Amino acid sequence: MNTSVTVLGLGLMGSALAEALLGDGRTVTVWNRSHAKADPLVAKGAVKAETAAEAISASPLVIVCLSVYTDAEGILGDAAGRTIVQLTNGTPRQARALADRVTGQGGRYVDGGIMAVPPMIGRPEALILYSGDEGAFEEHSETLAVLGRPQFLGGDPGLAPLFDLALLDAMYGMIAGFQHAVALVRSEKVPATTFEPMVTAWLTAMMALFPEQARAVEAGDFATRVSSVATSQVAFPGLIETSRDQGVDPGHLPALRDLFDRAVAEGHGDDGLARLITLLERPAR
Ligand code: NDP
Repeated sequence: MNTSVTVLGLGLMGSALAEALLGDGRTVTVWNRSHAKADPLVAKGAVKAETAAEAISASPLVIVCLSVYTDAEGILGDAAGRTIVQLTNGTPRQARALADRVTGQGGRYVDGGIMAVPPMIGRPEALILYSGDEGAFEEHSETLAVLGRPQFLGGDPGLAPLFDLALLDAMYGMIAGFQHAVALVRSEKVPATTFEPMVTAWLTAMMALFPEQARAVEAGDFATRVSSVATSQVAFPGLIETSRDQGVDPGHLPALRDLFDRAVAEGHGDDGLARLITLLERPAR
């Protein structure tokens, strides 16, 4: 097995990836736009390449981790005979376009999404999503497992960024709800630290509704014995009015109110909340 790996991009995440590979005894060639960032890794045994092209030619497996996708597109030269594992965050469209370019040059392409922060890299709790060339993924799976727990999602290179973005979507929605709720109680001088355990327990309990919503939307069966769209809809005027009364920005609430209103107007008031997923799949004009 060839254990040589190249890492392009030595920011916080790229350095953590390179360090995990060095810790596993791999031959690691590194390149970074600002050359000095390679020095701590060279001190740990990495080989410093002077150019991205030199780094790409050094190893069969090339891991890319830069700030944004267009940076990665800019530095990736000839990928013939190489497997490019692109871990820079991007969109499904960007991933598919770069995959076409790499495969057109005679390289193999895997896109990835890192669901972890740098200190977690190298540990099993670091979930890393992959999709694209399955043969290339299998060939390098032992090496990729050094970085975290790999999960392969399928042959479409757009799947890994899609799942990555969907998980971020869920996370930011939850954080937005938490932060708005904290602003509401702080408007009456209730410390966030007093309220936090209550909201954390509440959100944890509410997550128990997800499996049933997932089942309902897949089955197209929206009958509910828990909570209907109409019951939730009536909460929104009060939520928005109270935000305004307390001097708090209503934030995401008007958009949610509009979605509930649309569901009721379309005759779905008696359905369970999973019905809203189908409305999101059909954006309002
Ligand atoms: P950093 O800002 O720490 O590093 C960015 C890297 O991109 C540096 O190596 C920088 O080089 C390089 N870079 C920026 N612009 C260019 C360019 N035009 N040409 C060449 N190189 C360039 O970011 P992170 O390492 O934290 O993040 C890297 C990727 O990992 C991002 O896509 C991020 O979303 C993803 N990620 C990060 C996580 C985190 O917690 N940090 C978590 C999950 C994913 P230079 O040093 O020369 O500026």
